[in-house]
Amino acid sequence: TLTDRLSRLVKTMRGQARITETNVQDMLREVRMALLEADVALPVVRDFVARVKEKALGQEVVGSLNPGQVLVSVVHKELAATMGEGVADINLAAQPPAIILMAGLQGAGKTTTTAKLAKHLIEKRKKKVLTVSADVYRPAAIEQLKTVTRQAGAEWFPSAPDQKPHDIAVAAIDHARRHFFDVLLVDTAGRLAIDEALMAEIRDLHATLKPVETLFVVDAMQGQDAINTAKAFKEALPLTGIVLTKLDGDSRGGAALSVRQITGAPIKFAGVSEKIDGLEVFDADRHAGRVLGMGDIVALVEEVQKGVDVEAAQKLAEKLKSGSGFDLNDFLAQISQMKKMGGLSGLMDKLPTQMTAGKGGPADMDKAERDMKRMEGILNAMTAKERRQPALLMDGKTKASRKRRIAAGAGVQIQEVNRLLNQFDQMQGMMKKMKGGGLMKMMKRMGG
Ligand code: GDP
Ligand code: MG
Repeated sequence: TLTDRLSRLVKTMRGQARITETNVQDMLREVRMALLEADVALPVVRDFVARVKEKALGQEVVGSLNPGQVLVSVVHKELAATMGEGVADINLAAQPPAIILMAGLQGAGKTTTTAKLAKHLIEKRKKKVLTVSADVYRPAAIEQLKTVTRQAGAEWFPSAPDQKPHDIAVAAIDHARRHFFDVLLVDTAGRLAIDEALMAEIRDLHATLKPVETLFVVDAMQGQDAINTAKAFKEALPLTGIVLTKLDGDSRGGAALSVRQITGAPIKFAGVSEKIDGLEVFDADRHAGRVLGMGDIVALVEEVQKGVDVEAAQKLAEKLKSGSGFDLNDFLAQISQMKKMGGLSGLMDKLPTQMTAGKGGPADMDKAERDMKRMEGILNAMTAKERRQPALLMDGKTKASRKRRIAAGAGVQIQEVNRLLNQFDQMQGMMKKMKGGGLMKMMKRMGG
């Protein structure tokens, strides 16, 4: 799966400093395979991978992220951008009634979505909504729309199997006008597969209705088949939006990518349950996370970027250059910095579980975080003078009594105070060598 491939990729990229022309090839091969496995159409995959490559090559690798993680973040952003940026609600800018035509294969969820949309427009947009069924092939379909329309709290316009779809449309528009409906939702006949006669029928219906929205309803579980369906409907109708249904199922939602690319229409809504309130405004960013299945890597990248307090790091660098040295106050500041980044477990939560399982998993993280808190406690039990002059604790005459006092104050054993001082000593040595450079690296090491 995409998840497996990308987390493997993240592992193999560990220890590399930059995204280069050479290592990006390996990573993109994984991305390409993964998207194909997720049922994204080949031409769509090619375009997508080309865009990702272009964007990835310019990327700096920051803080504790490695090129694999940065690439995942680029893939995530590009996925979100491909599936549509921001949110697109229903367009109702038309002389009332604003007409919405529902199109799609049988079983895609047109009738259910018609009622869900009616409810959405009543509750969120305060509209007076009428529904009508032009599905004259199955009497049960008309009854189904009547039932779900009632549940939605909208009004239903009767139609019958012996009527022509065109006549139903004309009568429904007339009724909607005379009764001042804001919106008319038109449900249509199901197609088991692309069928020329039925395509011609919905084209005629479109000509009669002149809808402000022509929504293509597509089942997210359809996978590769969604591409051909989308092509056929795009050729038959000027689609203005997509509704991706059954996202509550276990599909990877890769169909979203192809359907969006092939129709060029925005994905406006997502169906997330069989129930009448199971409709959500489509959120491309969140859906990209689902397609990737990798936890919120983007949030992680941003966290690392903002958590690393550039100003504080610079101050420390200057201080070191001026020769005043790294003291225990700086050590304490570094620990606070780590905490500001949400702590280790906060960061680990944002990583995919595959990456954090096993060594360095949640249990280790808990321990590391507890250690950090204890270290902070010990540092706070010191006097300001001791933090400024660590020598008082390391080779001064009063060091034993001072350490006893600090241990008691922090509620720890003397050995822990010693351990902290050892760590500090090591870090001080490191800082001397670095002369303020490589602060990020140092902070990483501190995380253990
Ligand atoms: P139509 O033939 O296109 O009108 O499809 P229907 O609206 O009759 O829906 C077909 C089936 O899919 C029904 O059993 C619906 O309850 C179900 N369905 C529709 N949308 C969703 C959804 O978002 N999630 C789930 N789980 N089921 C859905
Ligand atoms: Mg139906």
